[in-house]
Amino acid sequence: MHSRRHALLALAGAAAASAQKKPLDITEFEPRSMLAVKETGVAWPRFPVIDSHTHLSCSAKSVGGVPAAGARRFLSHPTELLPVMDAKNVRTMVNLTGGYGEGLAECIARYDNAHRGRFLTFTEPMFADAVQPGYAQRQADAIADARRKGARGLKVLKTLGLFLRENLSTGALVKVDDTRFDPMWEACAAHRIPVAMHVSDPAAFFLPTDKYNERFEELNNHPDWSFHGRDYPSNAEILAARDRVLARHPKTQFIGLHVGHSAENLDHVAAALDRYPNFHVEIGARIGELGRQPRASRRFFDKYQDRILFGTDAVPHGVQTPQQIFGTKLYEIYFRFLETEDEYFDYAPAAVPPQGRWRIYGLGLPEAVLQKVYNGNAARLLTLQS
Ligand SMILES: [Zn+2]
Repeated sequence: MHSRRHALLALAGAAAASAQKKPLDITEFEPRSMLAVKETGVAWPRFPVIDSHTHLSCSAKSVGGVPAAGARRFLSHPTELLPVMDAKNVRTMVNLTGGYGEGLAECIARYDNAHRGRFLTFTEPMFADAVQPGYAQRQADAIADARRKGARGLKVLKTLGLFLRENLSTGALVKVDDTRFDPMWEACAAHRIPVAMHVSDPAAFFLPTDKYNERFEELNNHPDWSFHGRDYPSNAEILAARDRVLARHPKTQFIGLHVGHSAENLDHVAAALDRYPNFHVEIGARIGELGRQPRASRRFFDKYQDRILFGTDAVPHGVQTPQQIFGTKLYEIYFRFLETEDEYFDYAPAAVPPQGRWRIYGLGLPEAVLQKVYNGNAARLLTLQS
């Protein structure tokens, strides 16, 4: 009798508990931290900044992830950008997506030539032409022409390795180390311009979009960002192909955008930096990764202080993610991350952390390192005075 009463009470207790348990959609969860920790506003960086990763223009049309030839779409006007740059000590913005041909010339006229020293433009490969005979030489010639017209580097989008196929949008994927691009990499060395490479993507983008994926919400919001399945190579295969390019073109200076696409595994990035003296990295849109491993990141910045470039991946208008929204707020987050030892703060100006539900810790870098990261390393690669 006694034990039956006991069992009934236990059941009643369980029912009451389940009545109190409220379901909450993960997308509605916006926890506010109760930590009482220091908040250091860094309105002005310790040194002038070269933002080596921005997008001030883009191709007006793309087919299956392959930018089409022709006109550029401008995402901003210098008169809108300059006040933010002046307010945040951003001396120069590097517009990586300058295109080629007429579009490139328009970009250089609109930004670089109209405001000397404040904007630099990179050219891009003619991917839409890449599967045609004679491409390799045409591409090398186009680099020489772009350099003459004022381009300061070459930007390679993840088109290479993930979108470009033998028949443009069908057929086998063209590999990152395909030899038809060899004359292009060599032309960059000959004309002394660096190559900014966006190959691959975050490691989690190559895994199933399931409950174990740490970027589930982001991939769920952007299913087209997933490279899981189909005939996609793995992240490791793409990065190995990139490494073969670095090895084959030792005179070409490469900048691995987004911390060389291995910010989740700094030992992997370090191994590439150790092996290839012509490799450098840029931090745009990866302070979320760097800042959640502040001790490893601090060691990384100390050791590779001559090889790391400041960049934000800022996009002023058009298609942008929360961690790319150009403005004073974006720069202040980067300055706080690099300069302070603040704890547990947002890595993007957004209510919900867009790349994953965590917060970051500042690195508190010393002055000498800050100077190199903010402008010294970029100035050297872009052959400017720092
Ligand atoms: Zn970018």
